[in-house]
Amino acid sequence: MSTVIYPSPIFGPVHSRRLGVSLGINLLPADGKCCTFDCIYCECGYNKDRRPRLKLPTREEVRRALEQRLMDMRANGPAPDVLTFAGNGEPTLHPHFKEIIEDTIALRDRYFPDAKISVLSNSTQIHRPEVFEALSRVDNNILKLDTVDEAYIGKVDRPTGPYDVSRIIQGMKAFRGNLIIQTMFLKGKTDEGEDVDNTSDAFVLPWLEAVKEIAPRQVMIYTIDRETPDSFLQKATHEELDRIVSLLEQAGIRASASY
Ligand code: SF4
Repeated sequence: MSTVIYPSPIFGPVHSRRLGVSLGINLLPADGKCCTFDCIYCECGYNKDRRPRLKLPTREEVRRALEQRLMDMRANGPAPDVLTFAGNGEPTLHPHFKEIIEDTIALRDRYFPDAKISVLSNSTQIHRPEVFEALSRVDNNILKLDTVDEAYIGKVDRPTGPYDVSRIIQGMKAFRGNLIIQTMFLKGKTDEGEDVDNTSDAFVLPWLEAVKEIAPRQVMIYTIDRETPDSFLQKATHEELDRIVSLLEQAGIRASASY
């Protein structure tokens, strides 16, 4: 198994066709993973195998490391297109997430005012007012909703605490369109032999109804790309992802797929 643990608090930049030059900001420890999900497809591995010993980076450590990197990028290139909060788990778990977003906006405005700020979150903390407020201020508030089927969520996303999908949907609606929904579609089986295909209408249609209700400004769907901790997962096909994009577009929702 070759899952990835990212450096902290800054990593990259990573060049991608979709995002351009993306500088990563990882608010989790450098030696392991902290997440309120334990997805069987997580590229960082299972929570139990990746328990960190190091502490979270402090607000000041993040600010200093980000400023240093941005100064270096301004002097030597490349210019970042996006500053992306991602990495070893759930960024909104950081107790100073809101202040770190404020610092990041100030640094972005100073060094690269055209760069966007993106946050990839699993949505489990959006009910917290300070998290909601911070996510409302970033350019790309990218929130995970893999399905609305709670049994499936229990099997694939595996929340580490209580999880109520209708509460998550209500929380997403509160952004009033200022969010991007991100959804993983995959097939194959868990290591215990349970089917995890969420590309059929039985999963897609109820999810689509929830997406319409939430009315995000965009939906990004994707499938597994790297090695996963569960060994029998399979990619959704191009045709399956394209079909879901068409359903979204027919509903008037901007959508894209990463294969
Ligand atoms: S939400 Fe993201 S970081 Fe957390 S377990 Fe799932 S894939 Fe990994």
